[in-house]
Amino acid sequence: MLGAIEAGGTKFVCAVGDESGKIIERIQIPTTVPEETMAEVIQFFKKYNIEAIGIGSFGPIDVNTESPAYGFITSTPKIAWKDYPLVRVIKETFSVPVGFNTDVNAAALGEATFGAAKGLDSCLYITVGTGIGAGAIVQGKLLQGLSHPEMGHILVRRHRADRYEGKCPYHHDCFEGLAAGPSIEERWGDKGIHLVERTEVWDLEGYYIAQALMQYILILSPKKIILGGGVMNQKQVFSYIYKYLPEFNKNYISLPKLSDYIVSPGLGDRAGITGALQLAYQALRNENQV
Ligand code: ADP
Ligand code: ZN
Repeated sequence: MLGAIEAGGTKFVCAVGDESGKIIERIQIPTTVPEETMAEVIQFFKKYNIEAIGIGSFGPIDVNTESPAYGFITSTPKIAWKDYPLVRVIKETFSVPVGFNTDVNAAALGEATFGAAKGLDSCLYITVGTGIGAGAIVQGKLLQGLSHPEMGHILVRRHRADRYEGKCPYHHDCFEGLAAGPSIEERWGDKGIHLVERTEVWDLEGYYIAQALMQYILILSPKKIILGGGVMNQKQVFSYIYKYLPEFNKNYISLPKLSDYIVSPGLGDRAGITGALQLAYQALRNENQV
């Protein structure tokens, strides 16, 4: 039996399942303070004979196995979780191999193994929600360098008519600062879900997302692009992305049919937790190799 945790800023999803992606039980726990939330997480897994646990976490997190802070949530604005040693706590409690990566990398792995990018050795998973983050599979492996990528914070060219200053506390008008859910709400004065009829909202959203995708395509050349997160429930955004991307590309890169290339998650809202199960499976396999 494998355990999986999708650690988010508002909730933790915990599941037990197997390497085929089958989920046997799944629960949600509100993200409060570590003592409270983690006590419930531990109680849930204690019911099972768990062989390995995979974690896809909000961040930034330390994913460098050589680092003294490996497995920590590092500089999160959620103060109670800052410098929290998530992997150490799980390892000390269960004494099993632990796989650890970002929530979006876990979702990319889930989609590449069982979802919209199944069978491909390359894909990009992007979430447009409270923040914007992306995870990439490159040549069959999760992309990692000094640390994990932070593709949500790339700089984009501002739309000529957009006077909104941007919401990113670090960069103001980076991609996340101009296009994540809270920036939509602040720019237009209402939550995205109440702006369904306002076509200019989703046109501008598509404009920024297409720009970001253009840059990801130029750098990573992904074989499939998967867009999830709350904002992407507005399916009309896809048509604006399909409209703007060719305007940025100008026929430079030859791309597949856009409606096949840029898609919703095949696993729906289970991409992250299914990927975390795969992280557990990978951790178990790696342990058995040594
Ligand atoms: P999180 O990023 O916190 O994990 P979500 O992916 O649900 O959670 O993103 C939440 C953001 O997405 C909020 O800013 C919310 O307003 C926006 N959002 C959620 N659902 C919708 C929707 N159906 N239409 C437009 N915006 C939405
Ligand atoms: Zn930023």
